[in-house]
Amino acid sequence: MDKNNLIKEYTNGEITIVWQNTKCIHSGMCVKKLSLVFQPKSQPWIKMDNASSEAIAKAVSQCPSGALSIKK
Ligand code: SF4
Repeated sequence: MDKNNLIKEYTNGEITIVWQNTKCIHSGMCVKKLSLVFQPKSQPWIKMDNASSEAIAKAVSQCPSGALSIKK
């Protein structure tokens, strides 16, 4: 089954995360680094209010696939 190429944005008003589902290799790195923010079983799965912009940006930078990025 083909995965739809889904691009979603999540913002806290300060920074915006872009998430591209087809790039995600499900390493779980984001969840491991910042489980208060990245909650795959929840909707929306990224909770932008649960950490500082700095902490979120750091976790995003550690995503190995590029599925998560910060919108410039
Ligand atoms: S760190 Fe990136 S590749 Fe890994 S599960 Fe999170 S979004 Fe997917």
